[in-house]
Amino acid sequence: MKTAIYPGSFDPVTLGHYDIIERTAKMFGRVIIGVLNNKMKSPLFSAQERVNMLKEVTANLPNVEVQSFDGLLIDFVRQNSGGIIVRGLRAITDFEYELQMAQTNRVMAPEVDTIFLTTNLKYSYLSSSIVKEIAENKGNISEFLHPSVAEMVQAKFRGQA
Ligand code: ADP
Repeated sequence: MKTAIYPGSFDPVTLGHYDIIERTAKMFGRVIIGVLNNKMKSPLFSAQERVNMLKEVTANLPNVEVQSFDGLLIDFVRQNSGGIIVRGLRAITDFEYELQMAQTNRVMAPEVDTIFLTTNLKYSYLSSSIVKEIAENKGNISEFLHPSVAEMVQAKFRGQA
């Protein structure tokens, strides 16, 4: 049973992320979503909030688990005996950074491979930061997020969460 690790910030999880998760869950016996608890970035949602959101939206996918991690991704991958990292590619602009990360991780952990899933065209423009910008300006974000996540984002900007 192969384990795939899908790491990211997921601040918040979008339908584009969900599409990658669903497709990965069909290909691997076990999928672990790794929520990066990065002290350098200042996220809208705490790591625990992001984990809870992801658990809620993936509750229908029995082989998907959600954990937060800090430190090096390859250490998290090794702790979970996963040999595969999954990342999504939206456009050529993602490519350079993703290639650099994958190559660096390969040098540090040759036993770990990174695979890329190309985005569903429907979501190729979608990013967590765009969604936050729309929400901050009181735009409608329901096209981009799971309903419960959209509610949490709106509550955050209303200052209720
Ligand atoms: P990070 O800070 O690690 O880039 P993100 O949460 O922004 O975290 O993204 C996690 C992964 O999901 C990345 O590989 C990113 O390219 C991918 N991703 C983000 N949005 C989409 C989308 N709309 N379609 C497909 N993949 C996406």
